[in-house]
Amino acid sequence: MTPLRQRKTRIIATLGPASDNFDNIEKLFLAGADLFRINFSHGKQEEKAELIKTIRAIEEKHKRPIGIMADLQGPKFRISTFKDGEIDLKEGDHFSFDLIDEPGTQSRVYLPHPEIFSALKEGSHVLLNDGKLKLRVLERSDNSAKCLVLNNGILSDRKGVNLPDALIPLAALTEKDISDVQFAIKHGVDWVALSFVQRPDDIKECRKYVGNKAGIIAKIEKPAALDTIEEITSRADALMVARGDLGVEMPLEDVPVIQRRLIRIARTQGKPVVVATQMLESMITAPVPTRAEVSDVATAVYTGADGVMLSAESAVGDYPSEAVSVMDRIAKQVESDPNAQSTNIDLGLAPNATPEDAITAAARHTAKTVKAGAIVTYTSSGSTALRTSRERPSTPILALTPSTKTARRLTLAWGLNTVRTKDVHSFEEMVAKARRMVLRNKIAKAGDRIVITAGVPFGTPGATNVLHITWLYGNELDDEKGVKFKAE
Ligand code: PGA
Ligand code: MN
Repeated sequence: MTPLRQRKTRIIATLGPASDNFDNIEKLFLAGADLFRINFSHGKQEEKAELIKTIRAIEEKHKRPIGIMADLQGPKFRISTFKDGEIDLKEGDHFSFDLIDEPGTQSRVYLPHPEIFSALKEGSHVLLNDGKLKLRVLERSDNSAKCLVLNNGILSDRKGVNLPDALIPLAALTEKDISDVQFAIKHGVDWVALSFVQRPDDIKECRKYVGNKAGIIAKIEKPAALDTIEEITSRADALMVARGDLGVEMPLEDVPVIQRRLIRIARTQGKPVVVATQMLESMITAPVPTRAEVSDVATAVYTGADGVMLSAESAVGDYPSEAVSVMDRIAKQVESDPNAQSTNIDLGLAPNATPEDAITAAARHTAKTVKAGAIVTYTSSGSTALRTSRERPSTPILALTPSTKTARRLTLAWGLNTVRTKDVHSFEEMVAKARRMVLRNKIAKAGDRIVITAGVPFGTPGATNVLHITWLYGNELDDEKGVKFKAE
């Protein structure tokens, strides 16, 4: 069995041409990746099925749960093509978008998305090519928009279009997304990431396809989402601070402010939150990151984000596993700073008025008071483990679950070392197993106290209602075989 990481912040690595076979994906896992993101914006479904099979084989070999995130493309708008492939726009030019399916010229281009024209208003901004080119709408109708060009730039075939001021009357999932989400669920992914979320109902729409088979991550990359962010967070199972598109649609200096706000909102609600995009961008082509990038990853860890994500660095970069190692080292270093816990990571969040929260909050305080070596939490749906993670205890957490699905899904949450194990049926068995699992996984050592939370009666999923303190003797039998990771 591969040892537990003993790192609290999770690392998500996006797969791509630089990481598409058993050997290099295993390298990323061994370097510290807890979850893999499969990006449905590129490639075919058959290739994704192959990747999922490979990840499950790595999981089986190392006997550790690995999370898989399917990231849906979402409504990414693009212009059509130009007569000569590209045009050169100058500040002050007039340029129009329309619904005429003909090659573009110096003064117009086909924009094959009628819903955009109804959402645009006079004064709305249109951003092209990752925000490098900015235009403002002067006049609009239901099939065209005449704009003023606000800066010089080249515009070429099929460049992306961002509309920061408009709430587009679009379904949350495109036809491609629906096909991809059904495929992903059928292949047993653990998380589905929904791109360009605009409103709480978008999550509801996605839930129709996902059900309870996976968690839904709301990617926050549209300013419109911020208006209803509390409700979006409560409907979703996790958030992603999608700084790539967010930085196109908002002034760049707003992004760090929004990042902090999103982390706080997600943490308050007990939903995992991931910071994404350009974290170690320079490592796409260099074996070492810049100081500023190291500081960016450290900031995410200091603010108690659940996960940090690699995109191009691991998908198409020259140094995928090095990028994971760098994140791993930064996270461990920050987590070992004694000030990190007291100043930022511990937000002192009040528990909700539930038995589960009362017990998990008490577990954290008890563990601190008796200087316990571990908190062991028995969890079946994962909900108690997530509430324990929300507490951000300084004591290491070991989550024990009989469910493979739960073990995999919990790979996204801060601080949870999750081990799949058979259900227990008595108090004695609960205590014995907790002791054995803590020792076997080297979470704490003989002579340490441990704090256990569980729900009785055993074997029936329900609210956590037991808090127990015990000692590790060190002579507990380690007689169970490794657990297989087969879908149930
Ligand atoms: P993407 O999402 O990589 O799918 O665009 C993340 C982001 O926009 O930051
Ligand atoms: Mn994006």
